[in-house]
Amino acid sequence: MSYFRQQPHIYQKIARQRKQFHNESANRLISKGAKHIFVEDLNTKGLTKRNKVKQDENGKYLSNGQAAKSGLTKSILDNGWSQFVDILTHKAANAGMSVVKVNPKNTSQICSCCNAYVPKDLSVRVHECACGYIADRDVNAAINIKKVGWASSSLKNAQVGQPAREAHTVICDSVWEYVTMYC
Ligand SMILES: [Zn+2]
Repeated sequence: MSYFRQQPHIYQKIARQRKQFHNESANRLISKGAKHIFVEDLNTKGLTKRNKVKQDENGKYLSNGQAAKSGLTKSILDNGWSQFVDILTHKAANAGMSVVKVNPKNTSQICSCCNAYVPKDLSVRVHECACGYIADRDVNAAINIKKVGWASSSLKNAQVGQPAREAHTVICDSVWEYVTMYC
């Protein structure tokens, strides 16, 4: 029997605290007055699938990236990303703002300054590019998420000539950090 099933009140307390954290975080983002908020469209179902077992020609087991993925998966599930995005979307709509979900593919690997591909695994927390741009991994990813969000949506055309204020959301290992960029 799991710890949480033996201690249901502890689980309820955690769920309540998590929801409160989601509400407070959403309020904080909304209060920045951004017109559009770009978030990673995380498919938690896909992320929770186990990686395939990899073997070489001699049957020796090779790394399949499961350990790194487990950390990320745990973080996403623990933090209830989809619940947060739902709360944020609801609050944004009430405030006349929009939440744009963006496919995060390669957003942590591409340099947001020069577009070079800079491969790094999850343990590398700093983005360091040959072009000279150095940034926190999540900040670099957030800027890319904003770019992809603008490029892939109809927002760009609608906003031509108008100053835009945007908020980015970033998830870190176990907490979310919010970065606001003004341009
Ligand atoms: Zn670069």
